[in-house]
Amino acid sequence: MVASDHLRDARVVVVGVGAIGSTLAYRLAQAGARVTTIERAHAAAGTTGATFAWLNGLDKPPRAYHRLNMLGIRDQEDLADELGGDWVHVTGSLHWTERADGARAAGMARGMRQLIEWGARVDRLTPEQVTRDLEPDVQIDPAAVDAVWLVERAGWLDPVALAHGAMSAAVARYGAELIHGEVAGMRRDGDGIAAVVLADGTEIGADVVVNAAGPDASGVSALAGAVLQVERTPGILIVTAPAPVRLGRVAFAGDVNLRPDGGSRLMVQREPLDTDVIDGTAIPLGDPRIAAAMELARHVVPGLAGVEAEGIRLGVRAMPKDGYPIVGFDPAVFNLYHVITHSGITLAARLALLVTEELTGGDTAPLEPYRPGRFASAAPAG
Ligand SMILES: Cc1cc2nc3c(=O)[nH]c(=O)nc-3n(C[C@H](O)[C@H](O)[C@H](O)COP(=O)(O)OP(=O)(O)OC[C@H]3O[C@@H](n4cnc5c(N)ncnc54)[C@H](O)[C@@H]3O)c2cc1C
Repeated sequence: MVASDHLRDARVVVVGVGAIGSTLAYRLAQAGARVTTIERAHAAAGTTGATFAWLNGLDKPPRAYHRLNMLGIRDQEDLADELGGDWVHVTGSLHWTERADGARAAGMARGMRQLIEWGARVDRLTPEQVTRDLEPDVQIDPAAVDAVWLVERAGWLDPVALAHGAMSAAVARYGAELIHGEVAGMRRDGDGIAAVVLADGTEIGADVVVNAAGPDASGVSALAGAVLQVERTPGILIVTAPAPVRLGRVAFAGDVNLRPDGGSRLMVQREPLDTDVIDGTAIPLGDPRIAAAMELARHVVPGLAGVEAEGIRLGVRAMPKDGYPIVGFDPAVFNLYHVITHSGITLAARLALLVTEELTGGDTAPLEPYRPGRFASAAPAG
């Protein structure tokens, strides 16, 4: 493969091989940078390996941020095509809630109206249409549910395949280097970073250091003396044993969310469980709260009868203080570039293109709302 000449001599060190670091390493190497990625475990060992991975632009105001997410879905499809990967499934998502839960039904209808106003295709279906034409293994009670919304441009992806696919292509096609090691320090030179220092003392010289360390981004920043405001919010996901059911779309059924998870497994998300993570430890598989979540899932997909939860995944979201991505050079360390976000599965391929464009002297306008400096300027005076 022929890489471009733009970044021919730049040494870019990317810290972290999750959805963000892997896709960015691929695009930067393709643009001609000498990319070294450093990962302390393996591709997708962090949040990317424990995510619901719904590709979506729902409830993501303002409109420019919604658009960023919608373009992110398209860019994930393009990237998978380019890499010959089969990990992206833009088959739509289904959303319903019982009429009795008036507040939630109204909120859902509002979100759908906004999507439609912003140019997304959303179909309002009856429960019968869904179970007859789209998802025969799903049960929706027509006596309790008025409408099922089908969001067409939504879906899910296999995040481990994405991170591994993008990283291995960066290495094989464009000569990127992948080092397994822990970034434990940064050697400063004036206002910038001269080298990234690994736990074993190895130094890797850098012109630009990209912080793609997800929920550990604040720690990586601190190594360079920079302050980054990222909260860590945990989330629990349940993976079923292989089940004799077919689910083609992501399903949001009010109290429980489901999606396919490969190998005939389903992934089950029950958001109230997220608050049951204590001191970084998920509730165990045998806990009654997991059994209760599985019962809710069986109510939606009756074919799960007799199928048990096989595993729990505990993910930690990197949540910037205002909920929006942090993308750009650090205000205090001139060659430290952050790419930290929630919804990183939806956004990774778009951000990889935009960051590569910025670092090759192109248009930076789409990234301006997300600069790291916005927090510093909001700090109280004096
Ligand atoms: C429960 C849950 C549900 C979610 N649902 C969705 C969803 O439906 N849709 C969506 O778009 N997003 C979702 N997200 C968010 C999404 O998963 C994340 O935004 C995304 O995975 C972040 O990827 P990342 O590459 O930034 O971070 P990570 O995947 O965490 O990658 C960071 C990598 O850096 C490495 N690292 C860290 N520190 C160092 C160091 N010092 N030295 C070397 N390596 C280091 C880690 O090992 C890790 O591999 C969800 C997250 C959670 C937890």
